[in-house]
Amino acid sequence: MSINKDEALKKYFGYDSFRPQQAEIIDMVMAEQDCLVLMPTGGGKSVCFQIPAVLKEGLTVVISPLIALMKDQVEALRGNGIDAAFLNSTLSSAEQDQVMWRAKLGTLKLLYIAPERLFSGNTVDFLKEWNVGLFAIDEAHCISSWGHDFRPEYRQLSGLKLRFPKVPVIALTATADRVTRRDILKQLGIEQAETFVASFDRPNLSLNVLPGRKRLQQIQNFISKHEGQPGIIYCLSRKGTETVAASLQKAGFRAEFYHAGLEAGKRSRVQEQFLKDDIQVIVATIAFGMGIDKSNVRWVIHYNLPSNVESFYQEIGRAGRDGSPADTVLFYSYMDIITRQDMINNSEQSADQKELLHAKLNRMKQYAEADICRRRILLSYFNEAVDHDCGNCDVCRNPRTRFDATVIAQKALSGIARTEQKVAMGMLIDILRGSRNRNILQLGYDRLPTFGVGHDLRGEEWAEYISQLLNSGVMDIAYDEAHSFKLNAASRQVLKGERKVELVKFIPVAERKAREEEMAPKEKPKQEIIRDALFERLRTLRKQIADSLGVPPYVVFSDATLSEMAQKKPVSEAQMKAISGIATEKYRRFGETFINEIVSFARENTKPGTRVVQGLTYIETLDLYKAGYSVKVIGEKRNLNPVTIISHLVKLKEDGHPIDLRALIDDHSYQKIIKAAGEMSIRKNDPIKPLFEILNEEFDYGQIKLALAIWEEENQGSL
Ligand code: ADP
Ligand code: ZN
Repeated sequence: MSINKDEALKKYFGYDSFRPQQAEIIDMVMAEQDCLVLMPTGGGKSVCFQIPAVLKEGLTVVISPLIALMKDQVEALRGNGIDAAFLNSTLSSAEQDQVMWRAKLGTLKLLYIAPERLFSGNTVDFLKEWNVGLFAIDEAHCISSWGHDFRPEYRQLSGLKLRFPKVPVIALTATADRVTRRDILKQLGIEQAETFVASFDRPNLSLNVLPGRKRLQQIQNFISKHEGQPGIIYCLSRKGTETVAASLQKAGFRAEFYHAGLEAGKRSRVQEQFLKDDIQVIVATIAFGMGIDKSNVRWVIHYNLPSNVESFYQEIGRAGRDGSPADTVLFYSYMDIITRQDMINNSEQSADQKELLHAKLNRMKQYAEADICRRRILLSYFNEAVDHDCGNCDVCRNPRTRFDATVIAQKALSGIARTEQKVAMGMLIDILRGSRNRNILQLGYDRLPTFGVGHDLRGEEWAEYISQLLNSGVMDIAYDEAHSFKLNAASRQVLKGERKVELVKFIPVAERKAREEEMAPKEKPKQEIIRDALFERLRTLRKQIADSLGVPPYVVFSDATLSEMAQKKPVSEAQMKAISGIATEKYRRFGETFINEIVSFARENTKPGTRVVQGLTYIETLDLYKAGYSVKVIGEKRNLNPVTIISHLVKLKEDGHPIDLRALIDDHSYQKIIKAAGEMSIRKNDPIKPLFEILNEEFDYGQIKLALAIWEEENQGSL
């Protein structure tokens, strides 16, 4: 019996509807067309080849550079009842033989393989025999030297189309730029392919930029507010990751660092522990991430400014892949820009290349300094038109105001002039605020006319405004002279009063937070608190199951699925299967365990007369029924009418519980009711009063309902 793509989505993945473009892409693949799919990380690329794989004849070969990831991907597919396997160097030769055997038998639907493996030995010859129905090329940008992650071994894929001219190819990537895109098509020899570009918007990611002061302290506050939620902190240097991790450990957080300098064994251990939710926080260089498919990363912090928007977007994209809300934070100060500029200037790159890198860095700076919706800036970077503010970035939540800051600018600039353009940020702020520290006194700066003219502003305000002055070109900075500030033509105009300066009003972090909290509901409603507690219970259960199976928790259920479960509290098979992400196989393996947990939670939290869980009443009836009590006794125990108990049992039967309805009514009564019902053409869901009357009130409503339900059940399909 063949199923269509919507049924496959529900059956194998537990989802009710496709995300934008997925359905079109699947149709195209099913029509044997080559295609190129561009979707952001977490956009839902996998489904685009996994559904064709289960619907199509033959084997789908998935080429992926990420060996470490294959195991989890295959595990997840199997967990959903799809036969999948991988072939790579981590398998013993006996294991490899077994995979080849399954492929040959034709039972295997998906085979994951690394590109170097594809063209080694006689793999290609085997593939020829195995009836390959589709090639899926994941991370397809790796084939292009224009992309940001060129891998020479991917180049071999150029020969694929020649060797398998009849097999359709679907190439997938999260890298959007046009040059790379065109190159992928050319390299793969699929120039005629249909290209699908999905929106790069990830509305579930909140975007935030925080001033780069007291970063460690801010991070600790942040993590405390995200208790138990896994997250990644990206740092520029290896040393940085170690320091930050050490300070978090000291503060009692389960944090570890990760960088390319770590010994390989240690690296994979840390990664594994993070995947399994045993470590909450990973502090890493950008070496971490590729090859991480953890869908329940709930936040990403950039301790330092990334070098370009693509990298930034890819890194924050690792948060919230399951579609549940996730937070991103970028720390930013003008020093970050300087560091990055120095790195470019001191690199071995050609002059052209350096110019390009500076231009890219500049776009990153625009994001960090934005005083309009940050998502607009990101999406416009990816050439996407946006017609509204997102409401989920710090600028949207704290709209910026501009004010005439000419006097502030003049104070700062004159401070620079009076010190013969020799001071850098810290010293300038001290002069403006009139701090009598040793350096100031030694240099005699306390005798300057500008000393203390800016005491009305706090240090952090000055830092912010001076950064803005730099950014707007009203003054310069000399990196090669200990970052001292310099005046330029614009500065002189401002000093002479010939030019006005506008700045964006500084909002102290505390105030921003206060405002955000004001916008959030003051106290959680009671319902919510119970739900959170239930979520934690379900999360613990998920972890136990995952550990016993040796898989990461998100392979059991995603955070999104778990949170919907905590919200809707399903207690029957039908209710459980209606939750997004509960596929048939998933239900079979874990459904009852989770239902039991929800039921026992609900019992512990139910006060007499309240109803926390819809359907709990059925479960109580079910338990008594299973314990062997009769309808009458169940009714007495529960203080409910037997008719109600019968209706519970009928409903439970419909939900798939093993209830022997026939045993609840004697055959003579059953026949009599059914005969009358047949004569009157009354069916299960019709009003039964006429039946009750025609039978001279010999049977009660419960018995009539029961008989109709049994009849319906036994005669299904014969109608
Ligand atoms: P990508 O490979 O593009 O980074 P994935 O294929 O891993 O993204 O999908 C990201 C998440 O979205 C996964 O948890 C996946 O199960 C989920 N997902 C994919 N398609 C749908 C859909 N139609 N409805 C709900 N969730 C989906
Ligand atoms: Zn916004």
